[in-house]
Amino acid sequence: MCGIVGYLGPRDAAPILLAGLTRLEYRGYDSAGVAVQTESGLTLRKLAGRIGGLKIALGRDPVTGSCGIAHTRWATHGAPNERNAHPHVDCTGQIAVVHNGIIENADVLRTRLECCGHHFVTETDTETLAHLIEDADGPTLESRVIAALTHVEGTYGLAVIAAGEPDKIVVARRGSPVLLGVGEQEYFVASDASAVLEHTRSVVYLDDGDIAVLTRTGYHVIDREARVQTRPVNALDWDLEQIALGEYSHFMLKEICEQPRTLQETLRGRLLFADGTARLNGLNLTPEDCRTLGRIVIVACGTSWHAGLAGRHIIEALAGVPVQVEYASEFRYRQPVGMPGALTIAISQSGETADTLEALRAARAAGSKVIGVVNVVGSTIAREADGGIYLHAGPEIGVASTKAFTSQITALLLLGLYLARHRGLSLGDGRKMVEQLARLPDLAAEALQIEGEIKALAQSYVEERNALYLGRGINFPVALEGALKLKEISYIHAEGYPAAEMKHGPIALIDQDMPVIFLAPKDAVYPKVISNMQEVKARGGRIIAITSKGNGDLRGLVDHQLSVPPSPSLLSPVLTVIPLQLFAYHIAAMRGYDVDRPRNLAKSVTVE
Ligand code: GLU
Repeated sequence: MCGIVGYLGPRDAAPILLAGLTRLEYRGYDSAGVAVQTESGLTLRKLAGRIGGLKIALGRDPVTGSCGIAHTRWATHGAPNERNAHPHVDCTGQIAVVHNGIIENADVLRTRLECCGHHFVTETDTETLAHLIEDADGPTLESRVIAALTHVEGTYGLAVIAAGEPDKIVVARRGSPVLLGVGEQEYFVASDASAVLEHTRSVVYLDDGDIAVLTRTGYHVIDREARVQTRPVNALDWDLEQIALGEYSHFMLKEICEQPRTLQETLRGRLLFADGTARLNGLNLTPEDCRTLGRIVIVACGTSWHAGLAGRHIIEALAGVPVQVEYASEFRYRQPVGMPGALTIAISQSGETADTLEALRAARAAGSKVIGVVNVVGSTIAREADGGIYLHAGPEIGVASTKAFTSQITALLLLGLYLARHRGLSLGDGRKMVEQLARLPDLAAEALQIEGEIKALAQSYVEERNALYLGRGINFPVALEGALKLKEISYIHAEGYPAAEMKHGPIALIDQDMPVIFLAPKDAVYPKVISNMQEVKARGGRIIAITSKGNGDLRGLVDHQLSVPPSPSLLSPVLTVIPLQLFAYHIAAMRGYDVDRPRNLAKSVTVE
């Protein structure tokens, strides 16, 4: 959600802030703004809409100064218009704040501050922060920020500058990610590392409760009692190329097409051919832990939740441990039972998903061990979990997740294998599975070869208003994911359903206007899925079938058949989802939508 950037150094701040915002635009994009310390005090520029507009405005009327903060917003409180765009200022215009998160007691604070004479000009929760800081006592900006935050309930990642204390940025974090970039005599603030990558590879991740103070001579991190905290400087291992579009028209297409490579990265160094198992050093589970595990709880949201559903099949089939898959947002407010002795797996691409993080904390508080399956190295879930598996899929910029999904399933396959080998899976079966996993990147490359066919198919479905996705077993989560992809970026209403459940309700919707996409790879339930297709066909529905090569010709039954390479059933979701990702992508692109930035969505959901 939202992107924060800050700069303090020898260079002109505005172009650096704008470039950083552009990198973060995928996080939120309804409005944007900057505040720069200029010779005449704080100067603000903000606009509704994309960062491109702000760039043009600043080109026409530049602001000069070498210390500033900037924001791209994903509105939670107040319409996405120019007035509500960040930065927000206090009554005097001397203090400017950018904020990611939600101030939960904003209404109470606003009433109290208005009673004391403060004048509010926006509908945002964030504006209360500017007035609280204005109201607070203290010798320095940081002491006033600390005092102001004692009144605040909710979550924040924020950056503050003040005209009275030039050449200083104060940063605070609780529940929303912020990091510092450390360059040569220059310092950066950012919501994620992609915004600072072109300037420095040295970053400092802040913990909840941290306050960071940046000046021209350095930075330091303190806690609420102003005690200095030591935070390590981490080296980023991303390439700039990974966050560039290259020859592709959209990041989503780039990320779909790079899956053979990202799967390879997820598997790299982790396949132990001779031992028939996976090397998962970061897991921090002893062989004894693996053997005695009574139960696994997976907590996740959105696409990661779908990966978790596939993970349930994988882990139960391989390791024989019962797995429960929970929406993190629901789990966190339930009374968790039987958690001691359980293992909770939090799945999140960004590692910052607020609901998943809180579910992880709730599971731990209830006595469970917790691990993360996370893409972003150093993210909060990665740091708070007892252990975990990094996806190493590289930055995912497209808002609709694609490569993270297939890497999540691959990571869960590795985990399932690892647990299974400690719980009785034979060496021979383990080796067979390692061989199968090693082939996965090549199979994904083969699955991508039918892109042309899918594009042509998308052309005939571009005007649809609805679609039904059906699958069974481990491909039911793929049906959910296919439907989610379509609705996220093409705004076509789509439902995923277990194929056999269709006759308990959705079958009423089937007629010639309802395209039905079946997941039908070769597996134990294939004949059953064929029967479900017959039921749709009998009612005039149009069928697209995703099958495995070698499944024979279904043309008598279906309208279109798309074939992916055959694979063992547990690996099949990694392949069957690829045509669905491409189908959704091409439909949305043909409809002329902004595929990488679908309306109302944001990438890293750091609010509840
Ligand atoms: N709650 C703040 C607002 O609505 C910040 C939202 C964000 O994280 O972008 O302005």
